[in-house]
Amino acid sequence: MTQTETIFVTARICIVTLCLVTVLVVWWHARTDADRGERPRLLMGLTIGLLLSASLLTLNDIHAALSPGEQMATYDGAWLWLLYDAGVPLLVILALRLMRQRSAALTALERASVTDALTELANRRGFSTAAAAALQACQRRGETAAMVMFDLDRFKSINDGHGHAAGDAVLRGAAAALRRHVRASDIAGRLGGEEFALLCPGMTTEQAAALAERVRDEIRRSVPHPAGDGAVVTTSAGVAVVERPQAGFEGALVAADQALYAAKKAGRDRVAIAGSLEAADAATAAA
Ligand code: GH3
Ligand code: MG
Ligand code: MG
Repeated sequence: MTQTETIFVTARICIVTLCLVTVLVVWWHARTDADRGERPRLLMGLTIGLLLSASLLTLNDIHAALSPGEQMATYDGAWLWLLYDAGVPLLVILALRLMRQRSAALTALERASVTDALTELANRRGFSTAAAAALQACQRRGETAAMVMFDLDRFKSINDGHGHAAGDAVLRGAAAALRRHVRASDIAGRLGGEEFALLCPGMTTEQAAALAERVRDEIRRSVPHPAGDGAVVTTSAGVAVVERPQAGFEGALVAADQALYAAKKAGRDRVAIAGSLEAADAATAAA
């Protein structure tokens, strides 16, 4: 074999290897995409078919070139064919990279659209979607669910007296306190401003009121007030339990909001329960 022929055969062997490695990469991508619920089967099938046929053609070239009596094609145009053969797997790898980047960007965008940037809790949209779905699942199973709304007391005075950044720190602290008390099945979110909400599947009124009380206490104990000197961040909460299937997500939110309003009206720093405010106030009157 001449030196040129050796280079040709080596290049073709490299191309076949590249094609086969690319087939494995495409197959791995197709599997992980299927895990994420995407199934671009036709595209992946065609790509694998194209790569396998490119490998077979190149193997055929190698076989023909090495057969005794055959004249190996090493004319100038054959170099271009080599470039073309190598281009197929390289283009497939580039296309896969672009698809991956696009898919990662979409996932990040999707996550950002349902997450509150300041507290990392679900934002109103994320909370509404997840809570409405959880509520429907509860109703199908015949379970109750509790909706709890929290609102920091006199939060505007923190902003006005100590600046927006201090207010933001309090919001982050309150969100962290809330997070420490949620179970895996609960859904927590920041509805906006200094209002947070919690949907607790399977909870009774008493359990939800006790949970709201624990969160209220945790915020008071763990979130530093920028004024210092024994000042505490206080919170009011409203609890509503959904028992009837027709009540729905919006109904639960309105009921919890009304209870929250009643807690504010009764003096703040307390938990009120929709429909039985007197009992709740008696149980949770601020110390
Ligand atoms: P109440 O006890 O009745 O709830 O009074 P409040 O002062 O807590 O309620 P109000 O609705 O009067 O004020 C809420 C304030 O929250 C007003 C707004 O400037 C502030 N706020 C809303 N979003 C943000 C935020 O992302 N960061 C900060 N620092 N402040 C925010
Ligand atoms: Mg407030
Ligand atoms: Mg408010």
